Amino acid sequence: MSWKYKTFVITIISLLVVANAFGNKQRKEQPNVIIIFADDLGYGDLSCYGNPTIHTPNLDQMASEGAKLTQFYVGSPVCTPSRAALLTGCYPKRVGLHQGVLFPQSETGLNPDETTIAELLKKQDYSTACIGKWHLGHHPEFMPLNQGFDVFYGFPYSNDMSRKEQLLLKPNSKYPYHLPWLSQKDTLDVDPDQSVVTRELTNKSLEFIEKNQHNNFFLYLAYPMPHIPLYASSNFKGSSPRGLYGDVITELDWGVGQVLNQLRKLNLDKNTLVVFTSDNGPWKVYKTEGGSSGPLRGAKGTIWEGGVREPAIFWWPGQIESRQQIMNLVTSMDLLPTIATICHADLPQNTIDGRDISKLLLGTGDVADKPFVYYTKHGDLAGVRVGAYKLISDGKSFFLYNVEEDISEQYDLKDKETAQFHRLMELMKKLDNKITEGMRPIGRI
Ligand code: MG
Repeated sequence: MSWKYKTFVITIISLLVVANAFGNKQRKEQPNVIIIFADDLGYGDLSCYGNPTIHTPNLDQMASEGAKLTQFYVGSPVCTPSRAALLTGCYPKRVGLHQGVLFPQSETGLNPDETTIAELLKKQDYSTACIGKWHLGHHPEFMPLNQGFDVFYGFPYSNDMSRKEQLLLKPNSKYPYHLPWLSQKDTLDVDPDQSVVTRELTNKSLEFIEKNQHNNFFLYLAYPMPHIPLYASSNFKGSSPRGLYGDVITELDWGVGQVLNQLRKLNLDKNTLVVFTSDNGPWKVYKTEGGSSGPLRGAKGTIWEGGVREPAIFWWPGQIESRQQIMNLVTSMDLLPTIATICHADLPQNTIDGRDISKLLLGTGDVADKPFVYYTKHGDLAGVRVGAYKLISDGKSFFLYNVEEDISEQYDLKDKETAQFHRLMELMKKLDNKITEGMRPIGRI
C-alpha cells in the first residue's frame, strides 16, 4: 500500500468519524418528542393526582422522574377545539374551530393552512406519526397525512360515532354513520372491536419508535379512551376496584409504561421529551362510566375547572429535574412554542397564543405569567384567569374566585373584591377582542 493511498484512507476514516460525531451531536441537541393525549380523562383520575381507587404505577413513576403540573389548562372543555389548540398553539377561536365538536356529517376541519407541531418538526427532518384519535376533520384535506404527519393509524373521530355502538346504547337507534379504523388512507375495519384498541395503538407506537430509533421523531399518541363507550382488553378487564372505568385507565397506564420502557430499552430515554395529558375533563353522565375531576368543580363540557384543568406530566430524564411539582399556569397551547425552542424549529408565521415554557421545564429561568381565557364548549367567551384569580360566567351571572385558595370554586368574591372583579372583566373583553380580530378561517371542503 503506497503512503499516498494510506493517507487517503486515513483521511476518509477521519472524515467519517467527524461526520458521525457531528451527526450524534445534532441528534443529542434535538430530542424526540412524544405527546400522549388521553380522551376525557379527569384531573382526579390518576393515583399521582390523588385518585384513591385507580392505581397508575407507570404514570406515577413518570411523574416522580419528571415534572407534575398542577395548573395545566387545555383550550376547550370538549374534544375537537381542545385538539386544535394543542396542535396549533392557538385558542380554538383563532383557528375557527371553537364552535363545538365535529361529527361524521361535518364539512369542516382544521384548515390545512394552519401550522401544526408535526409540520414544524417535519421541516427539521423529524419522522412524524399520529396514532389514535384525530377528530379535526375526516375529509382527506383535514386528515393527519395532510397536516404534517407521515403516519396515521386510528380513528378519524370519536369512538361513540359508530352505528354499532349507538345500537348497543339504543336498540332502535337510526344512527347511520360508521366508525372506520384506518391505516394511512386505508380502511382496515369498520366499527371494530374496541377492546383491543388501547393495546393495538400502543403496539403500533412501539413499532414506530423502534423503526425511527436512528433519526429524530415526533409521536402524537392520542388514545381514544376513556371516552365512552369504555373498553378494556381481556388482560385488564376486571382488574381494578374502580370497575370498567378503572380497568380502562389501568390499561392506558400500561400503555404509557410500554412507551417509556421502549425508550429505555433503545437508549432513547435521555433524548426524548414525553408529555402526558388529556383533551378535556371527565364525562360524568353515565354513572360509573364517568371519571373524576378530583377536588375541581364541574366536568367535561363545563367552564368550571373540572372541564379544562388536566393532569400533565413532562418527562425527559437528565434534562427535566425529577420530583418536581410545577404550579405555574401552563396551557396546552404552550406546547408548540416550547417544542419549537427545544427542537430548534421555527415558529409559524401566523400569530399563536402559547408561550415558550422551556426555561421553566429545564430549570434555566423564569417564564412570565400569561392570562388564560375561558370559552364554553360552543366557543362563547366565558371568563379569564390571571394569577390566582378567575372571573367566570355560568351564562347568567359572573363570579370571581381565588382558585389557588379555593380550588373547588365555592366562595364568590365579586362583592368583596370589586376592583379585582372590574379589572378582570375589562381584561377578559380586551383579550377576547384581540383573538376575535385575529380569527382565521376554519377549513371547509
Ligand atoms: Mg374528549
